[in-house]
Amino acid sequence: MVRDRRYIAAIRAAQLGLSAAVVEEAPTLGGVCLNWGCIPTKAILSAAEIFAAVKHGVPGLVVEGQSANYSQVIDASRAAADRLVRGVNGLMKKNKIEVLLGRARLAAGREVVVTRDGASESVEARNVILATGSTELVFPGVQVDGRKSSPAARRSSHASSPPRS
Ligand SMILES: Cc1cc2nc3c(=O)[nH]c(=O)nc-3n(C[C@H](O)[C@H](O)[C@H](O)COP(=O)(O)OP(=O)(O)OC[C@H]3O[C@@H](n4cnc5c(N)ncnc54)[C@H](O)[C@@H]3O)c2cc1C
Repeated sequence: MVRDRRYIAAIRAAQLGLSAAVVEEAPTLGGVCLNWGCIPTKAILSAAEIFAAVKHGVPGLVVEGQSANYSQVIDASRAAADRLVRGVNGLMKKNKIEVLLGRARLAAGREVVVTRDGASESVEARNVILATGSTELVFPGVQVDGRKSSPAARRSSHASSPPRS
């Protein structure tokens, strides 16, 4: 599954014979789904479900001495995410899609400016697809404690481990 809309659009454009490029401001490709959302959370959930089944047992099946190492569970979820991100990198290469790392900004005419570490480069594009995803809206007066979900947690979506609650 490749959830990130940009890669699907870029691959299709390349398949149709266009010269395609993707701009990504995060250190890794794959968007929220691969890096932080669907994939790592489902890996953790799956481990939790297995542990719950083992812990509570089923009639006739009792497993003694269960223990959980959550750090290894998180590591496994990161490994799953990393594997899929590598897959996206492979798809970009296979379809000859240029990956520009940096923050994109629309400039005049057909110009797209990509900025990274203070340095900018411009690319010309006949067609541009904006697929920037979304971020939280924090309502005025609402305090977010930053432990379970926060703009900071969202920004750290490409960190080596997800935020811990
Ligand atoms: C914890 C969690 C669990 C989830 N689980 C599921 C699930 O099980 N099933 C499901 O269907 N969905 C799930 N989702 C939702 C899913 O992750 C999103 O629907 C999906 O990631 C949206 O994809 P997108 O391509 O629109 O945006 P994103 O994945 O957010 O991708 C947008 C990308 O654009 C980049 N970007 C933004 N602005 C710029 C810029 N100016 N220049 C360069 N790059 C930029 C960002 O860095 C990001 O990588 C989950 C989400 C979360 C947070």
